[in-house]
Amino acid sequence: MQTLREVLEQSQQRGVAIGHFNISDLILLKAVAAAARELDVPVIVGASQGERDFMGVREIAALVKSLREESGVPIFLNADHTHSLAKAEEAARAGFDAIVFDLSALPIEENVRQTKEAVAALKAINPGILIEGEIGDIGTGSEIHETVIDTSKGLTTPEEAKQYVAATGVDILAPAVGNMHGMSASMVHGETRKHLDIQRIAEIKKATGVPITLHGGSGTDDDDFRKAIAAGINIVHINTELRVAWRQSLEASLAKHPNEVVPYKILPPVIEAVKEVVLSRLKLFNSVGLVAAR
Ligand SMILES: [Zn+2]
Repeated sequence: MQTLREVLEQSQQRGVAIGHFNISDLILLKAVAAAARELDVPVIVGASQGERDFMGVREIAALVKSLREESGVPIFLNADHTHSLAKAEEAARAGFDAIVFDLSALPIEENVRQTKEAVAALKAINPGILIEGEIGDIGTGSEIHETVIDTSKGLTTPEEAKQYVAATGVDILAPAVGNMHGMSASMVHGETRKHLDIQRIAEIKKATGVPITLHGGSGTDDDDFRKAIAAGINIVHINTELRVAWRQSLEASLAKHPNEVVPYKILPPVIEAVKEVVLSRLKLFNSVGLVAAR
């Protein structure tokens, strides 16, 4: 089985991006794995600290390992937004392929100092693990926000990105380039879309030369996704769109079967609904590669 580093290099060469989808239950995990298997493309399953606390760090690792072996599709596991070294080490020991070590809320000097230490400590546990660092402001919650999302503040500059990568030794960078976690209600209804700073992405890529992740991808304009991937984005995170599909389809299934109590009769439409979202996003992120493969 290929490593995440190898798959990242191949994606870069082919001009496609790897889809990253967060999970917090077995329904979401089954949906993500089924979509990746159907399209036969690599995928990253993400679990933030809250998602890991709910499902269990070792339990998620065991489920993903088993799905990877069974399907033969490269399904990787990322410890998303990890705010302490202790939590990061827990994920590294459980066998995660990558960790987003997120100290972006701290002053930049403190972020650099602690991230550098974390890179050394985590590579001592697993030399092959990939560490992603974050600078700039991309918000926190993958949920529906009441207020309009302001993406103009706290953008990452190419200079600070270059300095940060060189000083910390991170393998992957998560910059703020007009992206933001969560969606507004108008985005859920498809009335508005997020737009990205494509020029800034290209400049950060050129300055750093490392793989770049786009966090908070939910609700982003499709054409902006294509341009962002062409400009150097290697991994795209989608969470809120899956959560919205999960809730809406669960409510619909419960309403359709008011007297049903058997979970495996209520939940399959939820897997299908989430899988449809993952399929459409994976097709978009891998579209250049699919065309080239024909
Ligand atoms: Zn994120």
